[in-house]
Amino acid sequence: MDRIENLVSTWIRPEIRALSPYHVADATGLVKLDAMENPYTWPEGLVDAWLERLRGVQVNRYPDAAAHELKARLRENMALPEGMDLLLGNGSDEIIQMLALALDGPSATVLAPEPTFVMYRMIATFARVEYVGVPLREGFELDATAVLEAIDRYSPSVVFLAYPNNPTGNLFDEAAMEAVIDAAPGLVVVDEAYHAFADRSYLGCLPDHPNLLVMRTLSKLGLAGLRLGLLAGRPELLNELEKVRLPYNINSLTQVSAAFALEHQAVLDEQTATIRRERERLGAALGELAGVRPYPSAANFILFRVPTGSADRVFQGLKDNGVLIKNLHGAGGALSDCLRVTVGTPEENDAFLEALGRVLQAF
Ligand SMILES: *Cc1c(COP(=O)(O)O)cnc(C)c1O
Repeated sequence: MDRIENLVSTWIRPEIRALSPYHVADATGLVKLDAMENPYTWPEGLVDAWLERLRGVQVNRYPDAAAHELKARLRENMALPEGMDLLLGNGSDEIIQMLALALDGPSATVLAPEPTFVMYRMIATFARVEYVGVPLREGFELDATAVLEAIDRYSPSVVFLAYPNNPTGNLFDEAAMEAVIDAAPGLVVVDEAYHAFADRSYLGCLPDHPNLLVMRTLSKLGLAGLRLGLLAGRPELLNELEKVRLPYNINSLTQVSAAFALEHQAVLDEQTATIRRERERLGAALGELAGVRPYPSAANFILFRVPTGSADRVFQGLKDNGVLIKNLHGAGGALSDCLRVTVGTPEENDAFLEALGRVLQAF
């Protein structure tokens, strides 16, 4: 074996070597409906005011390690319940990583229903923590009985519940959620990455459950490029996670830009409202197409099923017609024959629907 291969095989953990790097599809020249981004930018006057604000940032200095101003702004905008605190991450992905690095317990296990957000499993692997996935029921509903059994068996340090769930788009049943939160011996993180598109949230329930944490992100709200996620919960828990947070994880440009955007929350809210209206229109239009079954969504994307064995051809056909979405067929299991489309602008959604109609007709 040559030297470099030897270095890799001797000094890199086998479970890391077995992974593939997180794949981001090239969207050059395509209508980009694959990544749950908000398709809207800001009005020109707002961009000017933002750039003016950035002029005052001293990039020769380290950022405010505690992000005081940004946190104060977040607290106010989200109406954080009394007595609760915030932890900030470079995207919520980094918060998942902090949790995985800090957790302990009899088995140091992360548990999540599946299919769900893939980073829970990936980050558990990076952090040498066990991961247990519990299948969702028919219709992607949370299987409280199965989760409770798994909780009994593995005593997980943390349970992740994406609410609404990605990639399925639904909000789990409240009674099932409560049962899991009550039964979990360790932490329960309700991941509300899509809260802006849903009418329900667990933020107000934080005072009722000491083991509950609510995670959110500004990514799906229209600030994906800034990378800012947050975890809300009891200061006693967050103070421990603070110790594994890298001191300057939220850079100066992000702190200032996010605070600025949150001062103009009404602009984001208006965009969100438009996306929600388009989601309803898109869902109804998908339901009209023969052979297509859209699932109900409380997020800014729609999961849909196509005729058995056709997902790869539909995905490629759309791409050939200039539209990039996400093909979930490769994940197998409950996601066989499933694709996920992000809700775009009305024009983008029309382009998608027209392309999909054309592709299906060619079968
Ligand atoms: C997109 C997404 C995230 C990650 O958000 P970032 O803040 O951009 O890292 C977290 N959870 C779920 C369920 C998501 O879909």
